[in-house]
Amino acid sequence: MSVIYDRVALIGLGLIAGSMAHAMREAGLAREITGYARSAATRETAREIGLCDMVCDSAAEAVAGADLVVLAVPVGVMGTVAAEIAPHLAAGATVTDVGSVKQAVIAAVQPHIPAGVHFVPGHPLAGTEHSGPRSGFASLFRNRWWLLTPLPDSDAGAVDRLGRLITAMGAKMDRMEPAHHDLVLAVTSHAPHLIAYTMVGVADHLSRVADEEVIQYSAAGFRDFTRIAASDPTMWRDVFLHNKEATLDILGRFTEELFMLQRAIRMGDGPQLYDYFTRTRAIRRGII
Ligand code: NAD
Repeated sequence: MSVIYDRVALIGLGLIAGSMAHAMREAGLAREITGYARSAATRETAREIGLCDMVCDSAAEAVAGADLVVLAVPVGVMGTVAAEIAPHLAAGATVTDVGSVKQAVIAAVQPHIPAGVHFVPGHPLAGTEHSGPRSGFASLFRNRWWLLTPLPDSDAGAVDRLGRLITAMGAKMDRMEPAHHDLVLAVTSHAPHLIAYTMVGVADHLSRVADEEVIQYSAAGFRDFTRIAASDPTMWRDVFLHNKEATLDILGRFTEELFMLQRAIRMGDGPQLYDYFTRTRAIRRGII
């Protein structure tokens, strides 16, 4: 595989940035990788494990001379970080982000991007419940979608080059309009996370079932909920605060359907339950 960027700066050194560093190194996609995270302890760990060629003590130092800058911080601080690095970006550089929400991140970052620097927002649909500099691994993106949500004036060459990096890391690249991205992700990721948090919360509040019983007798469904509900609280707080409209829309529809099923159970309406589950099974079989 050949070098795609000379110098890549990773801002935020957690699961996603760490996985990018491993994947880029494994395939030789960047000549040099610099990194910065706000917490001194994270920077120290990143140095210890040799995550980047150089871990810098300021974002300004990390982005100096970089031809690709990746914002891999929680959605709620993307704008602050963009403002911090803006005066230090090299002319012709590309800035991308990996935030799980697109419209709010674009609104926060775009105003800080100087003329002559390209902003290409993106979102890898890959993750685990782990976070921090030790959690990344090279194969995280393999065969997973990585959505780019370019702006109408995004430079075509910058989008293509970033797309080449994404596919060289093993991901499948697609483009989507930012508002549509936020709605699709509210259905496929954000609302399901909230439901998982709620299920685990419910189990915790049930005084008639002991915690040990929940763990000991937990069936696959509940185990999956606990894994999802173990995801990083900062990241998920920010996702819900910044994809408010779409998440509330989907949760409203979810609540209506849940009430409908609740009523069917109460009324002993077997045919309605059967029809509903037959429909959902057909959807699953249609997508797999
Ligand atoms: P993480 O918690 O593992 O890492 C976040 C990093 O950002 C940490 O190194 C932290 O020190 C750093 N940071 C926080 N505030 C900062 C600031 N103001 N300046 C500089 N560094 C700062 O998180 P992650 O899972 O890698 O998520 C990063 C981004 O990727 C988020 O926007 C998230 O929405 C998105 N994302 C996450 C997943 C997932 O499943 N974890 C999947 C796709 C996209």
